[in-house]
Amino acid sequence: MTLTPDDARLLTPGPLTTSHETKAAMLHDWGSRDAAFIETNARIRRELLDIAQAADTHVCVPLQGSGTFVVEAALCTLIPPAGKALVLVNGAYGKRMCKILDYARRAHVVQESAEDTPPDLAALDRALAADPAITHVLAVHCETTSGILNPIEKIAHIVAAHGRSLLIDAMSAFGAIPLSAREVPFDAVMASSNKCLEGVPGMGFALIRRSVLEGCAGNAHSLSLDLHDQWVSMEANAQWRFTPPTHVIVAFDAAIAQFKAEGGVPARHARYARNCRILVDGMREMGFETLLPDALQAPIIVTFKEAADPAFDFQDFYNRVKDGGYVLYPGKLTVAPSFRIGCIGHLGADDMRAALDTMRAILHDMGVTNGAPAKAA
Ligand SMILES: *Cc1c(COP(=O)(O)O)cnc(C)c1O
Repeated sequence: MTLTPDDARLLTPGPLTTSHETKAAMLHDWGSRDAAFIETNARIRRELLDIAQAADTHVCVPLQGSGTFVVEAALCTLIPPAGKALVLVNGAYGKRMCKILDYARRAHVVQESAEDTPPDLAALDRALAADPAITHVLAVHCETTSGILNPIEKIAHIVAAHGRSLLIDAMSAFGAIPLSAREVPFDAVMASSNKCLEGVPGMGFALIRRSVLEGCAGNAHSLSLDLHDQWVSMEANAQWRFTPPTHVIVAFDAAIAQFKAEGGVPARHARYARNCRILVDGMREMGFETLLPDALQAPIIVTFKEAADPAFDFQDFYNRVKDGGYVLYPGKLTVAPSFRIGCIGHLGADDMRAALDTMRAILHDMGVTNGAPAKAA
């Protein structure tokens, strides 16, 4: 791993630790209408499609902003004003899609399960059978709130069997959890530069079924979030409609080159899975418990229950771990007092072991003898 020496390691779901090469790629200025930049942009769009084996069926539409911008843009471009969505919710990002639909005044129903529980697939099947007005199903691949891996393939086949359109927020999974358009029928998948592809924050992208996007002119209520317009204009002159985040794009190009050199999705998944295994095993040795059983855990971010030991105070622990060089991710779950530790970013097994050593020493200094949570009542 080629890290920047004095930076804290980010054990977060993004923005996350990036390689030195990725950061170094930003040390230039580019004209947004220059041929070299245009070629970089075109290359990124091709490669993002290849990652999902979607080049024959889908198009890649990038958008300025954080991941939420492209989720909002995709929902508002693809769901027509007269459409109706069913949203599968088991965390904050599913809820955020509902909020987007509220703002955009798109009709929707919610099928919610607890943060540690995958969606009820039989209930989804029944809901789609019962309500022919539902045009779209919205799902989150890895719900970053808890780190749960939702069964996207099964969801996709149920949605396809009912002839509805599936839109996937795969923000925290894309590039690390396999998702192939040849095997999983979806109309759109949304992700961003600063998660498992290890770029810097500033842009999102949607891979959208071409035949679907072609029919979406005029759906969006917002000019800057209109992905149909963004696509048509980028196809016409290879340029972004409005100022592109040039440095972010060039860093993303460098990050994708490193992703390919590492071995693509299988290699990225293997490194993160190993990071996750080391982290979970090490924390369990200290007595901590994970919120999720291993079978539901995506190798992206892990939720640990707060220790019941009276000497444990999360804010104090967080501050000391930060001073030790690692940034944790406070949790906002409703099911249990908890905190989160990410296992993605430009980090490997040695970084995870060093983080565990740091946390072990800090717990010792704090006088915490056991990380076990309070017994369930
Ligand atoms: C990170 C993330 C987003 C986007 O969040 P931003 O803060 O807007 O980048 C959306 N969905 C999921 C599942 C995420 O993990």
